[in-house]
Amino acid sequence: MIERTLAIIKPDACRKNYLGLILARYEKEGFRICAGKMQWLSQRQAEGFYHVHRERPFFSSLTRFMSSGPVLTLVLEKENAIADHRTLMGATDPQKAEGGTLRKLYGGSIEENAVHGSDSPETARFEIAYFFPSVEIF
Ligand code: ATP
Ligand code: MG
Repeated sequence: MIERTLAIIKPDACRKNYLGLILARYEKEGFRICAGKMQWLSQRQAEGFYHVHRERPFFSSLTRFMSSGPVLTLVLEKENAIADHRTLMGATDPQKAEGGTLRKLYGGSIEENAVHGSDSPETARFEIAYFFPSVEIF
């Protein structure tokens, strides 16, 4: 089934000039980039995005990090996009991620791990709508 997923190239990867490499990898792996914008999230916007983690001990650090600089938010489309993008990202902790995955290649720590990806169809729907009105998705 053709699916859409939300990806975020996080502030660490933007700072390290990895945008082009990551976008090229998405295209090489068969994802179509159907929406994209660079934005500097406020901490409140990051808190709203990650609200499922609000009870976690790392929540305030995570939302501070996610609002520490610009991010590139993307909608990616392909067959099985949600699971395939999670596989391409690798484990949350870059040290535990498989070789060749985006987090292994470009992540620095369990928090500053380069990319975000939706983890289910419900999350993808919420996350895409959080950033993109339908007129901005092509
Ligand atoms: P994401 O939701 O960003 O795609 P994920 O689904 O692999 O990542 P989650 O458990 O949803 O991982 O955690 C969300 C984000 O919170 C992680 O990507 C990471 O930036 C941060 N994070 C997760 N666990 C920790 C931790 N133990 N310490 C610090 N930050 C963490
Ligand atoms: Mg997650």
